[in-house]
Amino acid sequence: MKQQVKTKGIVLREVKTGESDRILTILTPDSGMISAAAKGAQRLKSKLFAATGLFCYSEFLLFPSKNLYIVDEATPIEVFFDLRSSVEGMSLAVYLSELMGTLAPEGEEAVPQLRLLLNSLALICRGRNLYQIKVVCELRALSQAGYMPDLVACESCGSYEGDAFYFDVAGGGLLCAECAARGGWQPNLSAAQLAAMRHILYSSDEKAFGFTLSDEAMRRLSALTTAYVVRQLDHRFRSLDFLQTVLP
Ligand SMILES: [Zn+2]
Repeated sequence: MKQQVKTKGIVLREVKTGESDRILTILTPDSGMISAAAKGAQRLKSKLFAATGLFCYSEFLLFPSKNLYIVDEATPIEVFFDLRSSVEGMSLAVYLSELMGTLAPEGEEAVPQLRLLLNSLALICRGRNLYQIKVVCELRALSQAGYMPDLVACESCGSYEGDAFYFDVAGGGLLCAECAARGGWQPNLSAAQLAAMRHILYSSDEKAFGFTLSDEAMRRLSALTTAYVVRQLDHRFRSLDFLQTVLP
């Protein structure tokens, strides 16, 4: 008989199937993304009901089966109930989990990805600036997946300070205002926004969210990092289309 597996994990997706079952996509620290069937979990009386819902961070006891795991037991650790308190917050959570579900590995360790998502959801629940949470999660999730932009200095002349820069969402590099002008590009990053992006990429998990920008600068940076996501992954997320209607 195969060994049971005990793991923590967050439910990124739940698909209702049959009369009362759920197929879950779970992000786990040691095995990345896994699929698991939770039998009877849609029944309110089921002991799996509370711990296998969307965005539940739970301790799971799993049986390995043919193509997926079977959830034997699940105990909720954090249910992020306050995500439901605003459409904007909930929409951002759905987008970030779809993004993470696309970028996180399968069958490999995913501790930084899990920590980033848990931190992001906790900050949404605490009512922090949603644009800021989005920017940090997008940039760090892309970097963890190998799409780290090079923000050290202008690719052309090596200058690393200035009032304005151009961030190239296709190449992931930086040009100073003078070098950008020679190529016919308008600057799209202020010095403060560039400092924020550097802070996000080069600081620890705990400190990544600790920077400030004006609301308008944060909103514009959020549009730029999303453009980077879409361009790098060559993929439009359905959840992003909806998010942009409530968090333009
Ligand atoms: Zn330059």
